[in-house]
Amino acid sequence: MARRYEIPVIKITSGQRLVLVGIKEEDVEQIWNELGMTVGEATAPCVHYVQACPPGTAVCKYGLQDSLGLGLELEGVYQDMHLPAKLKMGISGCPRSCGGESYLRDIGVLGTGKGWTVIFGGNSGGRPRIGGDVVAKDLSADEAKDLVKRLLTYYQDTANPGERTARFTERVGMDRIKSDLLS
Ligand code: SF4
Repeated sequence: MARRYEIPVIKITSGQRLVLVGIKEEDVEQIWNELGMTVGEATAPCVHYVQACPPGTAVCKYGLQDSLGLGLELEGVYQDMHLPAKLKMGISGCPRSCGGESYLRDIGVLGTGKGWTVIFGGNSGGRPRIGGDVVAKDLSADEAKDLVKRLLTYYQDTANPGERTARFTERVGMDRIKSDLLS
């Protein structure tokens, strides 16, 4: 495709996405169609991407949970959700967290031998928050998905416009977030 559309640069990002740089404007729509993907929003306040370690349990010898399966599921559910600010998720198959960078994403989920740990409020940008806070651990996949849903809804309803989860967590405090969500 890159040759056919004369795309000069392909970049692999830290968020495990491929960026096709230099697409001709008239080719953009056709390329989205050929990729069979929903058109992504570049700057809108919404879920920008769900990063997951590709191995999950299938390839990486350290993988303890199916990170890729959970990541794809979360992306399918939340990719169109509008939020106070852009939001990134990172799903890792084990506590090493190298594939999904779960402690550096707005919402992180990582697999352990006892299930899933859900993390909130991480950021690796110009004003980093390293890392996010653990909201709950030892969750089943269904419990982790339910907590992600409640975190997103809470953030959507409570945060100020433009406020990333890192700043939101610093302002509101993880104790209050946990008390509102888990009590
Ligand atoms: S977080 Fe890293 S070590 Fe753990 S399963 Fe993913 S890729 Fe493997």
